[in-house]
Amino acid sequence: MIRIAFFDTKPYDRQAFEAQLAENPAAKDIKASFFEPRLDRTTASMAKGHDAVCIFVNDVADKDTIDVLVALGVKLIALRCAGYNNVDFKYAHGRIALCRVPAYSPYAVAEHAMAMLLCLNRNLHHAYVRVREFNFTLTGLTGFDLHGKTAGIVGMGKIGRAFASICQGFGMDVVAYDAYPSPMDGVKFLSLGEVLSKADVLSLHCPLTKDTHHMINKKTISSMKKGAVLINTSRGGLVDSIALLGALKTGRLGGAALDVYEEETGLFYEDQSYRIVQDDIIARLISLPNVLVTSHQAFLTKEALSNIAGTTIDNIASYFDNGELKNGVAG
Ligand code: NAD
Repeated sequence: MIRIAFFDTKPYDRQAFEAQLAENPAAKDIKASFFEPRLDRTTASMAKGHDAVCIFVNDVADKDTIDVLVALGVKLIALRCAGYNNVDFKYAHGRIALCRVPAYSPYAVAEHAMAMLLCLNRNLHHAYVRVREFNFTLTGLTGFDLHGKTAGIVGMGKIGRAFASICQGFGMDVVAYDAYPSPMDGVKFLSLGEVLSKADVLSLHCPLTKDTHHMINKKTISSMKKGAVLINTSRGGLVDSIALLGALKTGRLGGAALDVYEEETGLFYEDQSYRIVQDDIIARLISLPNVLVTSHQAFLTKEALSNIAGTTIDNIASYFDNGELKNGVAG
């Protein structure tokens, strides 16, 4: 029997994984314990008696956490997400195996990025609230046509490409920057500086690494078009939030659609409505009429949840059944 400890479990995770445990032949020897707390050094001891832990974007597998897991005899950290910036993968090397779900539905994230852009640009978040109060006025709701505008995409991997083709469907010109570019029909690959200066809408789809941390900062924002809209559905740390707030307050940027936030751990995915949120930056960002924040939900479609659960179960079964580390993360 392979015992897995799931951390940061939410009802929708549990539903998708329980469906896989019941139906996927690869899951026949797998037994899961579903824990609500996030994994970190203080909760890692909950993994006692388990062979693997399954974690998500805001669990923390730093050195101390890895030491506790290794001491408990846990052999595998199975990330049920694509990004792994929350894991000290260099330290894990040789101590504990790591696997992830590199792709589950690029469309889920790309479609959410476009949903946020449309909502923000056409002020649907304001219109919805007004109409519920029978306020049928239009003042303040003016948007702009996407048709003929330039979408700038940073990171042309699976999600960036899906977003590019959605933008093309809207009649937008698409320019892109990627550190390792691979051509796509109708997309002009340029330097990062050129993309920043040409984009009416800039959408981030590259991973968070030491190189990309705060790639959107005071200096790079100053090279963007005045009034451009920023969309970040990738990782919060790509954007210097204080610089973003400053640029929105002065009107340097025209709006921001944020599905991720650099200090989201401990804030997102929880009901904070009865607490005094201590983070003044996110509180101020949320207060701006031209900012739309969602709680890292771009992945949240039925298809993505089912693919995440299926690949995670296959990764775990393969590692324990025949020692093959599928979708491994190298240290
Ligand atoms: P991917 O690996 O297919 O694509 C990433 C692209 O970024 C690659 O083309 C790579 O060459 C490029 N890249 C790497 N370093 C770069 C740099 N310094 N500058 C510019 N480009 C660089 O990944 P993906 O599946 O498209 O996912 C992209 C990101 O989206 C992930 O890293 C993850 O952080 C984020 N994501 C968010 C959610 C969500 O729910 N909000 C869900 C899934 C993924």
